[in-house]
Amino acid sequence: MCRRPEIFRTLFILLIAYYQLPIAHCLLSITFAPVKENEKYQVVIGLEVHTQLLTQSKLFCGDSAAFSTEPNTHISPVTLAHPGTLPKMNVKAIEYAIKLGLALHCDIEQHNYFARKNYFYPDLPKGYQVSQHTTPICKNGFVPIRVADRERNIRLNRIHIEEDAGKSLHDVDENYTAIDLNRAGVPLLEIVSEPDMHSSDEAFAYITELRKLVTWLGICDGNMEEGSMRCDANISIRLTGDTKLGTRVEVKNLNSIRNVKRAIDVEVERLIGLVENDQTIIQETRSYDADNNSTFSLRSKEDADDYRYFPEPDLSPFHITDDYLVEIKNGLPVLPGVLIQRYIKEFKLSDYDAAVLCDDKAQAAYFEAVIKYTDNYKAVANWMLGPVKSHLNDRNIAYDAFTLPAEKLAALIELVETGKVNFGIAASKVLPALLLQPEKQPLQIATEMNLLQESDSSSIEQWVDEAIAAMPDKVKQYQAGKKGLIGLFAGEVKKRSKGKADMTMVTEILEKKLNKQ
Ligand code: ADP
Ligand code: MG
Repeated sequence: MCRRPEIFRTLFILLIAYYQLPIAHCLLSITFAPVKENEKYQVVIGLEVHTQLLTQSKLFCGDSAAFSTEPNTHISPVTLAHPGTLPKMNVKAIEYAIKLGLALHCDIEQHNYFARKNYFYPDLPKGYQVSQHTTPICKNGFVPIRVADRERNIRLNRIHIEEDAGKSLHDVDENYTAIDLNRAGVPLLEIVSEPDMHSSDEAFAYITELRKLVTWLGICDGNMEEGSMRCDANISIRLTGDTKLGTRVEVKNLNSIRNVKRAIDVEVERLIGLVENDQTIIQETRSYDADNNSTFSLRSKEDADDYRYFPEPDLSPFHITDDYLVEIKNGLPVLPGVLIQRYIKEFKLSDYDAAVLCDDKAQAAYFEAVIKYTDNYKAVANWMLGPVKSHLNDRNIAYDAFTLPAEKLAALIELVETGKVNFGIAASKVLPALLLQPEKQPLQIATEMNLLQESDSSSIEQWVDEAIAAMPDKVKQYQAGKKGLIGLFAGEVKKRSKGKADMTMVTEILEKKLNKQ
């Protein structure tokens, strides 16, 4: 998706080159006007991403951490902060934080403690949020991104553990705000980047990569719409070449990766508009309204908030031992970046195929399962990202719900590779039949449906003769040098054989006969 502007640009350029149409020039200047403006200004973006951890229970008590549509059902006295209740640390959250930190090349802080961040808000029962303050569990590190074939590492400032607040619902009652405390106390990782991104495409790629990693590690379901991943975008602009950061605005409530991109785009336009009109940018927190694709001010942020941080007295500091770190490191799954390189080097896949296969862990696992039965790696990638993927897309399901045994797909691929069925027929006829009868072998299905390719040379010769006889003028043109016409003859043979002729043989025989005549 992030390549789309590049594609459009290329299309326009091709259009101009081909037609030399003044109208295309005109369209080009309209479409890409903002790019021109951005050359005067550099956009600077830093993202804060909150990811909800997939632990069974909350960060400091045994209440379920699962998403629930029934409000206030996961609320023990600890969540409600009744007097006398005490927090107890959920060790799984620490394990997950370390996993992510290691996957993102961070330094892991071994001495940790929690602090109270005090503020008053109705969905915060304790009156403070328990968070890590000066000692985030992960520091430094980076997220590798790729935009328009350019790779960059976006540096991380920190990843820290904290508890979530409840939810204030302003739209269930006309006069009152309703409070749902199911989410209060659910463990979060806050992932804070350095202000290293310079376009909404980079921000898009960054969150896409983060989402891929947290789901790959199984520490978050990555569902932005349900709020399991939430993003605040800090945005500023400065004159290109300046090194000092400009005044930033922070845009909250970004509940999809697409909205992060859209919000940045409108906000950058607004900021540039202010500066161009000699107005001052004030540091403020804004909200994004997806319906109107606009942002509006929530509060100004001129004074630093005073959260009166102090170490949480009810939780002891915790130390991460070297052994525990090694244990977690050894338990990490092979990460997508490593797999991509392996697929490129060992299986000779293209950068693109390798990267797309590793977009999703279940998809990569399926690829690994299929190549146990065939070493036609490129063909497996083509099938998985082509016909199988469109079947899954049509049903709106992903590879984790794909039930065809890997060996059956491998057998189907072998049928094509050995010339028994041609690719088009295998994809359009055998695959759908196989999905309905996965217990059968692809060869059996192709035989029963009478779809096996004809590689008997006498029948092919007959179709070739018929095709040649039917187009005498084309034969003359071919012989006069228009060699591209071979495709036309091949198509005719394909039609006469009802798609069953082995096309490699067809081409061979056609060339022999046409060149002889
Ligand atoms: P706060 O908690 O007040 O939002 P942080 O120090 O946690 O402040 O920074 C939040 C994010 O803002 C970080 O991702 C950082 O990279 C980004 N950021 C800071 N200054 C700027 C700026 N001038 N322009 C863009 N992003 C910025
Ligand atoms: Mg912030």
